[in-house]
Amino acid sequence: MLIGVPKEIKNHEYRIGLTPAGVRELVANGHQVMVETKGGEGVGISDEDYTQAGASIAPDAGTVFARAEMIVKVKEPQPQECRQLRAGQTLFTYLHLAPDPTQTQLLVESGATCIAYETITDERGGLPLLAPMSEVAGRMSVQEGARCLEKAAGGSGVLLGGVPGVEPARVLVIGGGVVGLNAARIAAGMGARVTILDRNIKRLKEIDDLYGSQITTIYSTLDALERYLAEADLVIGAVLIPGAAAPKLVKKSMLSLMKPGSVMVDVAIDQGGCFETSRATTHQDPIYTVDGIIHYCVANMPGGVARTATFALTNATLPYVLELANKGPGPALQGNRHLLNGLNVHEGLVTCEGVAVALGYDY
Ligand code: NAD
Repeated sequence: MLIGVPKEIKNHEYRIGLTPAGVRELVANGHQVMVETKGGEGVGISDEDYTQAGASIAPDAGTVFARAEMIVKVKEPQPQECRQLRAGQTLFTYLHLAPDPTQTQLLVESGATCIAYETITDERGGLPLLAPMSEVAGRMSVQEGARCLEKAAGGSGVLLGGVPGVEPARVLVIGGGVVGLNAARIAAGMGARVTILDRNIKRLKEIDDLYGSQITTIYSTLDALERYLAEADLVIGAVLIPGAAAPKLVKKSMLSLMKPGSVMVDVAIDQGGCFETSRATTHQDPIYTVDGIIHYCVANMPGGVARTATFALTNATLPYVLELANKGPGPALQGNRHLLNGLNVHEGLVTCEGVAVALGYDY
């Protein structure tokens, strides 16, 4: 199969759909890969890196879309990309169609087979192609929060790990899923005192078994939230209710309980945010202050560490790319119900129930 990897064109998107190592695996399996010139430039991967791995370099996106049987990307296709897709072609990327009627309609009109990373499932009920970006965002949230605590950012001037003779910062993580546990691990590793609140007792037990006294686990109630907010220097919002907007757990009135110059990082902002005072920000202008509390609410955090995110993404997507290429999309989808859950649009029909219901398509 000829697999095409165009350069991402969404504003400030530097990631790319396949790394040279991913290309090499596909070539070793008898496939051809075509990468758009300068596609990996933003993450330090040159055209030469790709040719050495066995890819050919296309001069422009038009050549990639015209020739490839399967397109592998990162972000949802922009309108000009959707218009280049055609029947018989497979698109494999993040789509996030439910809130995006325009893109959905264009993909329906294209006739292509469109598989979304974010709706592929695994045996444990997880979303394996969302997890790597949650890992990245969780780990990054502590690094960003630590910087916001510095005086120059308006923070309280507390060092996360403290120093001998001076107590460390207190970090409160709300939601102990993939984002939350990765945040907690990094914060604990930097020497902070970390508390995780979650509603899922089984999850709290798992964290306790793994980290013992390094991370305090607390069942999430209003009482617990108010108590730990009052002593926190850094609060990380990491809750998720699948398929729903994030619950606004921290109300505006609760900010008055917190120490001035404390920091709140709302990683759940892509689902609307779990703090009442959150509004989405960008890497160019990431923070703002409400009632003396610094808010960091960047909706696409992994984009800020595009190189790490690119490698993490290919590690997770490559087995599925190989399965689709080796078996052909039809047999691969029919033979793997978890991959089939990723199918969102096929030959002019919306094939994902959530998207169909959200946008009023027949299903
Ligand atoms: P996850 O499902 O692994 O974890 C969510 C956790 O929240 C679960 O453990 C759940 O029990 C807990 N939870 C739900 N309701 C709660 C409540 N009321 N109190 C306490 N805990 C509660 O999800 P995840 O992969 O960790 O993702 C978390 C959020 O981060 C999602 O909204 C995801 O979309 C977002 N995210 C954002 C970015 C970004 O760039 N901003 C990147 C990746 C993920």
